[in-house]
Amino acid sequence: MRVSNHIGGEAVDAIDGRTLDDLAPATGEVLATIPRSSAADVDRAVQAAGDALAGSWGQSSVAERADLCDAIADGIEADLDRFAELESIDTGKPIHTARTIDIPRAVANFRFFAGAARHSQTAMHEMADAINYTLRRPLGVVGLITPWNLPLYLLSWKTAPALAMGNAVVAKPSELTPLTASALATLTAELGAPRGLFNVVHGLGAEAGQPLVAHPDVAAISFTGGTATGRHVAAAASRSFKKLSLELGGKNATIVFDDADLDAAVAGAARAGFTNTGQVCLCGSRVLVHRSIHDAFLERFVQAVAAMPQGDPADPRTRVGAVISAAHRDKVCSYIELGQQEGGTVRLGGGRLDRPGFFVEPTVLSGLAHDSRTATEEIFGPVVTVHPFDDEAEAIAIANETRYGLAASVWTTHLGRAHRVAAALHTGMVWVNCWLKRDLRVPFGGSKESGVGREGGHYSLSFYSEDKNVCIQL
Ligand code: NAD
Repeated sequence: MRVSNHIGGEAVDAIDGRTLDDLAPATGEVLATIPRSSAADVDRAVQAAGDALAGSWGQSSVAERADLCDAIADGIEADLDRFAELESIDTGKPIHTARTIDIPRAVANFRFFAGAARHSQTAMHEMADAINYTLRRPLGVVGLITPWNLPLYLLSWKTAPALAMGNAVVAKPSELTPLTASALATLTAELGAPRGLFNVVHGLGAEAGQPLVAHPDVAAISFTGGTATGRHVAAAASRSFKKLSLELGGKNATIVFDDADLDAAVAGAARAGFTNTGQVCLCGSRVLVHRSIHDAFLERFVQAVAAMPQGDPADPRTRVGAVISAAHRDKVCSYIELGQQEGGTVRLGGGRLDRPGFFVEPTVLSGLAHDSRTATEEIFGPVVTVHPFDDEAEAIAIANETRYGLAASVWTTHLGRAHRVAAALHTGMVWVNCWLKRDLRVPFGGSKESGVGREGGHYSLSFYSEDKNVCIQL
C-alpha cells in the first residue's frame, strides 16, 4: 500500500518525496509506505485549512456542519468492515476489537457531536440596564495529534467536535498507524466536504508534529499520547499561547474490596487489564485486592486471563493481539524482567511469544512492592501487577501513589464505600463495578501527569470554540 498526505482535498506525497515504512505488527512485514512529512508539508496543510475557512466553510451554519458529521458517520458505518480490517492490520489489534469497539465508536463520535452541536446553547445575562449575550465562534485551524493505540477512535473524538464547531483540521496521526486517518480523509473528500477542511499530514512526531504545534496560524492543539511527549507539546504550544488539550498516560488502579461480587470483579479486572492487549490509556494495570481475598482472587484472575485467546488478529476468536512494534515489545518485556528483579513472581505469561510479529504473552505478576517501578510506571502492554491491601485507607493511598491520575475502577457492593473511595481518588474518572462504560457527554480526562483539560460533550464543544460576550446598553 502507498499512503498519501491529504492536503487541500488532494492525495499528495511529501514535498521532498521522503517516505517511511509502516509495519504490520502481526507479521513484522512492511504494510505500507507513508510520506515522511516536514514543516513545509505542515505549512501547506495549514494554508489549505485556512483557505477552507476563508471559503464557504467559514460561513457554514451549525446545521450544515452537523449534517457533514452525520454523513461521515454514515459513511464509516457503511464501510465498517473495511475500516475495521485496516485498523486491525495496522495496529495488530484483534479484528473483533476493531469491529466491536474502535470503528463503532468512531461512528458514534461523529453522530454524537453532530447532535451535540445541534443542541448546544449559549448564555444570556441580564442587567437592569443592559443585556449580555454570548457568541460562540470557531477557533480557526486546529491541529490534532493522535497515538497508535486507538487510531480512528481518538482521531474521530477530536475531529467531530472540531468540525461541528466550524473549525478546519490538520491531523497528524501516529506514524505507526496511518491507514484509517487516510481512509477518513478520502471519505470526507468523497462526501463533498470543502477542500482543505480536513487535512492529514503523515510523518514523525519531531518532524511533522512539532511544526504543527509551533505553527503560528494554528489556534489550538488537541494532543493524545505519552506524558513525556505531552511535556514537549505543552512547552512548544505555550510560546504562541495556543489553546491546548492534553490527554496523556496512565497507571490506573483496579481496586477490589472483600465485599465485591467476585465473579464480576474478576471478569472486570481481566477486561480492564487486557483489552486492546493492555494498550489503552485507561487499562487497569495495577490490581489492588483486599488481603482476605487476595489469593482466591489471584487464582481466578489468572484463570480468566489465561482463557483469553491470543494469536492472529484476523481470527475473529482472538481477544489478545500483537503489540504495536518491536521496540514496544522489547520495552514491555523489559518491564516483565524488571518486575522479577524487583521481587515479583510471574503467575502467568512472562515474555514474548515465539511467532513472527510483535507478541507479548498476557502476563500477571504478584508479590511486588506497590511503590516498585513496575507497579508505578506506565508499561502500556499486556502486563498487570496484583497487590494486597488491608483497609480502605490503604487502598486509596496506594492507588494515589503514582504521578498519573487518569482513571480507576472500584469493585464493592458497599454503597457508602463506593462513594467515599470514588471521591478520594486523585483521578479524572472513576468507574464503580464497571470499566470503560462510556457516555460521550461526561467529562473525559486526567489529573496530575495524565493530562490537562477535559474532552467530551460540552467540554469538547467549548474547547473547539471561543466564547465572546456582547454587552448591549438598553
Ligand atoms: P507518543 O507520545 O509517542 O505519540 C503520540 C503522537 O504524538 C504521535 O502522533 C507522535 O508522532 C506525536 N509526537 C511525538 N513527538 C512529538 C513532538 N515532539 N511534537 C508533536 N507531536 C509529537 O504516544 P504513543 O506511543 O503514540 O501512544 C501511547 C501513549 O498515549 C501512552 O502513554 C498512552 O497512555 C497515551 N494515551 C493517552 C490517552 C488518553 O486519553 N489519556 C489515550 C490513548 C493513549
